[in-house]
Amino acid sequence: MSAVKYVSCPQCGARVEWTQASTFRPFCSQRCRLIDLAAWASESYRVPLADPAESDEIADPDADADPLSKRRGS
Ligand SMILES: [Zn+2]
Repeated sequence: MSAVKYVSCPQCGARVEWTQASTFRPFCSQRCRLIDLAAWASESYRVPLADPAESDEIADPDADADPLSKRRGS
């Protein structure tokens, strides 16, 4: 039996024959494969930039004064 298996092109959804002849499977064409590769590359190149709000935190030890030490006047 030689039932041909079909897959859907991840890029455009076209039906692709899953055979040795389909060089670009699971994509229907080289174009779709390149589009997918480009999307992949651009995603991996997206380097998360340092959050500027994170470095805005100021560590001030003097600000942590004990409120109970405050003298109460009579
Ligand atoms: Zn396609």
